[in-house]
Amino acid sequence: MVWGFIRGGDECRYKIQTWEGAKATAAIACLYRGHTTFSAHLHHLHLSPDPFCPWCRTIPETIEHFLLHCSHFHSHRTALSS
Ligand SMILES: [Zn+2]
Repeated sequence: MVWGFIRGGDECRYKIQTWEGAKATAAIACLYRGHTTFSAHLHHLHLSPDPFCPWCRTIPETIEHFLLHCSHFHSHRTALSS
């Protein structure tokens, strides 16, 4: 099983989604290739006006930023690591 975040509406920008089997494999492949709905990738595809994280505003919203550095999700990382 793979846990992931997918974009939601404006009120819930991300929601947790689980995938199993072939969907999990496809999700891992997308993450590995960087094919996500994060702003940096969407901007690269000319589908987003800017590449920046909606909370940090000056840092590109990449997988690495989302998972490891974004201050908006610090409490979630802390809860997961405890
Ligand atoms: Zn951020």
